[in-house]
Amino acid sequence: MLAVRYDLPKVAAAVTKDDLLRRPPGMYRFRELTPLDPGEAPITLGEGGTPLLPLPRLAGHLGLRHLWAKDEGQNPTGSFKARGLGMALTKARTLGVKGVMIPSAGNAGGAAAVYGARGGIPVAVVVPRGTPEAAVAEAIMAGAHVFTVDGSIATAGKLIAGMSAQIGWFDLATLKEPYRLEGKKTMGLELAEQLGWDTPDVLMYPTGGGTGLVGIWKAFEELAALSWIKAAQPRFIAVQAEGCAPLVKAWADKAETTTLWENPVTDAPGLRVPGPFAGRQMLRIMRETGGQPHAVSERAIIEAQHLLARLEGIWTGPEAAAALAALCQMKEAGEVEAGHRVVMILTGAGIKNTPPPLPPPTHLEGEPARVLAAVRQVIGR
Ligand SMILES: *Cc1c(COP(=O)(O)O)cnc(C)c1O
Repeated sequence: MLAVRYDLPKVAAAVTKDDLLRRPPGMYRFRELTPLDPGEAPITLGEGGTPLLPLPRLAGHLGLRHLWAKDEGQNPTGSFKARGLGMALTKARTLGVKGVMIPSAGNAGGAAAVYGARGGIPVAVVVPRGTPEAAVAEAIMAGAHVFTVDGSIATAGKLIAGMSAQIGWFDLATLKEPYRLEGKKTMGLELAEQLGWDTPDVLMYPTGGGTGLVGIWKAFEELAALSWIKAAQPRFIAVQAEGCAPLVKAWADKAETTTLWENPVTDAPGLRVPGPFAGRQMLRIMRETGGQPHAVSERAIIEAQHLLARLEGIWTGPEAAAALAALCQMKEAGEVEAGHRVVMILTGAGIKNTPPPLPPPTHLEGEPARVLAAVRQVIGR
């Protein structure tokens, strides 16, 4: 696996924390810790710079004192995939790639298509049948060629791996090139800065292929090497769905790496990754940081999605809702303490997905008195 290594003493000499304050928001304010060459212009739609939102009402409900959400749903394309694919398409263009092919559960394909359009690079996306309509529409709108397959993202990945050389387009699958990770890494850089150059005690991350989690860990490693933060990684909690939990299985088996999860089933598309590329790395990071993987049920995901929306007004996607569901369960089990500083990464916006079952709105019609009566009945006044 290729990874980007920086000349960190040179970075330390080139930029200070204070320099950052004078730069415009967005992920490229950390330019020296990105693979951009001097003078290289990124393909950008303003990704990054997402808020770290304190969640006081939810924290009170859970019995926690310090709880934040990094709201990645506010990125262009509605998910943190904008960071990774923005970076990857930027480098692909610079390196003269003719076109890219990407296996996806939805958001990665949408983001690749969008940044491809903006950078003038043709994109082909392969998604499992049943991928949420919004992500598929996003890719088609941006002019990508979209293909569906039966199976999961693993099926799509295999197909592309066996074909991209013949087509002559680059295989942009997770961790097959080093730049998507560098884009996702900027979540960790921002998070440390937003916490006053510190790391949280516990980090809840809904996991698919694993680049987001590994990226945040890499960010903290680099910042510690720069002495911008003290060397203290949070406990990393990789959250999965019970119907696709290869990390949880490997953890229980005390295995070094994950094995392919047969028949993955979950309504959280980003979690439906049966063979995470970064399985080995995530297991190592969790061991080293005192973290653990945690799987939650589909019902718990939907309940958590409602809870966050009702208490804090954030409609997050099912993946991030799984992270909240895991936090509820871990707090209940005493695995997270009231005083711990906890950050959840809300990886994507709810509107990118099929909504959970909801009560229909009440239709108003007829006499004013009848309308008033109907409204009073619903509101209870
Ligand atoms: C891709 C995705 C994930 C999984 O992220 P990885 O970095 O691949 O582990 C989680 N949530 C959403 C919304 C995603 O799009």
